[in-house]
Amino acid sequence: MKILIANLGSTSFKYRLFDMDGSSSSMIASGGFERVSEYTPCIEKMLEDLVAEGHLASGSEIDAVGFKTVLGKDLSGCVDADEKVLAALEGFKEVAPAHNPAYAEGIRCFERLLPEVRRVALFETAFYQWMTPAAFSYAIPQAWRDLGIRRYGFHGASHKFIAERTAKLFGRYDVADRVRSLYVDGPGEFSAEPFRVLSCHLGGSSSVTGIKNGLAIGTSMGFSPQSGLPQNNRVGDLDSMAVPYACKMLGIEVGEAERQLNKESGLLGLSGVSNDVRDVREAAAGGSEEAKLAIDTLVDSIRHWMGSFYFKMGGAEVISFTAGIGENDVELRSAVCAGLEDLGVHIDQAANEATIRGKEGVISTDDSAVKVVVIPANEELVIAREVYRQVSKD
Ligand code: ADP
Repeated sequence: MKILIANLGSTSFKYRLFDMDGSSSSMIASGGFERVSEYTPCIEKMLEDLVAEGHLASGSEIDAVGFKTVLGKDLSGCVDADEKVLAALEGFKEVAPAHNPAYAEGIRCFERLLPEVRRVALFETAFYQWMTPAAFSYAIPQAWRDLGIRRYGFHGASHKFIAERTAKLFGRYDVADRVRSLYVDGPGEFSAEPFRVLSCHLGGSSSVTGIKNGLAIGTSMGFSPQSGLPQNNRVGDLDSMAVPYACKMLGIEVGEAERQLNKESGLLGLSGVSNDVRDVREAAAGGSEEAKLAIDTLVDSIRHWMGSFYFKMGGAEVISFTAGIGENDVELRSAVCAGLEDLGVHIDQAANEATIRGKEGVISTDDSAVKVVVIPANEELVIAREVYRQVSKD
């Protein structure tokens, strides 16, 4: 089955074409365009290239196109990208302004250019569908809750992949099976020994998720991806009173406050140097106190959320790191796991140092009660697998 994953950035269009069957998958082509203002010419050029390079006889040979949609109003899951999805994206376009309009336009383009090819949307919120109301509700008036203001959770495809992969790595095939069929069959019943993962997705955008027996029980992400950990240039968690107070004292409008919290905050805002951890580390090594504070704050926030989920789950069998920072920043992984020996967390420094640049591995000692692992992210493949599961269901 040929599955195309369309990654629609606000100024870019990237794609990967996979050949999938029940037991294996291979990427057969990939490409992309930068500084994009209109998707139609990019999609036309992509189809031309795929045919010219011999990957497809024509566009209609594609079995399904998968879209990693972010946030929909009153809709989540892995679903056909139809009018309902477009309405859900429209309903929350103010909350995800960089993503929702782009995906709505992209989905319409594919509908126009390849009307016979199935379109599937995988919402980033899908993995959090089974959180309890106590875990997703904010203590706000009913009228606010009626607007759909609640905790949703993001990076769902990545954390779900971690749920499945960690279960396989540690021989919990019962949990892996449950995760694999989650969006197709639902969670069902589960009564075996608990398998609990503290999953850290740390990249340009970061989140921590608590995963119990394959289901997300909580997330550091909230109503929008503008929450939780300090992000590359976005603020993460902030007391709601800070916004009206800063607006008043700085003489700025709420729109400007939003821009500063979205573009000039996070690691960039704290360090004053860069939104990239590598530059921030370099500045810290060079003596910048602000840069050191940025990294310490990120570590503190990761530990804060991990601690919360450790407690809520009553323990953890696995701590997992993924994405750009999680896969590469040896020092950060050490700092996150420091001083947790009483909880049974013991890092093997040599393994930690050796597990970088896309390598998968266990970085805890053999006798560590809690296993610590690094698992490379491969978002497009993860989405392609979900789309494949959805399409082969029918
Ligand atoms: P995104 O979240 O933007 O999709 P990634 O998951 O690739 O992207 O994460 C990108 C981030 O990973 C960069 O901003 C950078 O801070 C971090 N990163 C990449 N390589 C390293 C490294 N060698 N050491 C520390 N951080 C790194």
